[in-house]
Amino acid sequence: MTAPASLFTRALAVAPGGVHSPVRAFKSVGGDPVFFARGAGAELVDVDGRRYIDFCQSFGPLILGHADPDAARAAHAAIDDGWSFGACEPYSLALAEWIVARVPWAGRIRFVSSGTEAVMSALRVARAATTRPAILKFEGCYHGHADAMLVQAGSGLADGRVAASSAGVPDATLGDTVVAPLDDEAALDRVLAAHGSRLAAVIVEPLPANYGLLPQRRDWLAAVADRCRRAGALVILDEVISGFRVGVRGMAGELDLRPDLVTYGKVIGGGFPVGAYAGRADLMDQVAPSGPVYQAGTLSANPVGMRVGLATLAKMEATDGWRTLEARTAAFCDDLARRLAPAGVEVVRHASIFWLRRSSPRPVRSLASLPAGQAAWYRAFFRAALGRGVYLPPAAFEVCFLSMAHDAGVLARAADALAGAAADAAESA
Ligand SMILES: *Cc1c(COP(=O)(O)O)cnc(C)c1O
Repeated sequence: MTAPASLFTRALAVAPGGVHSPVRAFKSVGGDPVFFARGAGAELVDVDGRRYIDFCQSFGPLILGHADPDAARAAHAAIDDGWSFGACEPYSLALAEWIVARVPWAGRIRFVSSGTEAVMSALRVARAATTRPAILKFEGCYHGHADAMLVQAGSGLADGRVAASSAGVPDATLGDTVVAPLDDEAALDRVLAAHGSRLAAVIVEPLPANYGLLPQRRDWLAAVADRCRRAGALVILDEVISGFRVGVRGMAGELDLRPDLVTYGKVIGGGFPVGAYAGRADLMDQVAPSGPVYQAGTLSANPVGMRVGLATLAKMEATDGWRTLEARTAAFCDDLARRLAPAGVEVVRHASIFWLRRSSPRPVRSLASLPAGQAAWYRAFFRAALGRGVYLPPAAFEVCFLSMAHDAGVLARAADALAGAAADAAESA
């Protein structure tokens, strides 16, 4: 009798690489991906009933943890009331009013269904408002998979030229995206000298968290905003990962940067497919139907996502959640850092986001200073952690997230498991 095909073997037959988003395939950590059947609080449970403490949390959206009871109540109520109208409803109004009342640079907001869509739409508004073609982005920042953002520094980084980071991106697109390195004022000035008058906008992750966690100097971020504005470009902060994760006003609030436009995703929908772009009322009023910039969505502002998003944000606010979560993450990461240091591992943290990486003698703020050997080390570390019942993001440059469901008991068990995994990985190296 032959064994039944594994779920992954079956998935490979029907989906490219067996997955619906690439990192899920475990390519960079090896082995077949785990198939999860359920999540509850800080834990995931696989199809064989094995439990894991989860630090991936769906890559960030689940700030309350899996299946939080208040979020679940909001979702159930939304299902009971019918889950899509394609018409006006009070739920997106409630979430929009909640955000606009708290985020001073969000004069208006438009909901979409992903971070990618939010970025794509914000870029369109910037190009319309400035009647300029080009966008400046930074190497190591991720802004979703719109053509214009799938670029990397080309051979001539000094002049901002780019190459596609994906097949299928047209050359015409590349001509209108300019890339500069993070953390480098001189390079910024060179790029602005060459391209400043063509720039519609600069887009930056104010807390780059998609190529490891690369916290930036406030001075550098302020220089980016000031110098790009002086060149006539709009400032777009991509807060898809940091927005409502570090606090209500995101990194913009924390660093007192006032963006013209801001993009959201992840936490804003509490784990349902929600994105948003927001900003100065005069810019947002360029969007149809009040202005000439077309942007639409059949399932935009879907009531389930709107109601779960608001339940999530309101619960975080009512419980002083952001402060609690930050304190809890800081204590956990400090303890972890002490225990992992002997294995040559550092814990980089901001708010409730952290990244485990090979030690480096200096702060890592750009791709040029990434520690060597991260990918090979992480592969061994990830597999050892998985064996000890901890699920980390399955790639060396993805960051970890704490949720409100990671309580003291869970974190103590996790710290023991991760310390053991670091020792295992050091031994196998
Ligand atoms: C996740 C992310 C995106 C893309 O969002 P999707 O919902 O995956 O399309 C864009 N920008 C940043 C900063 C992100 O972290």
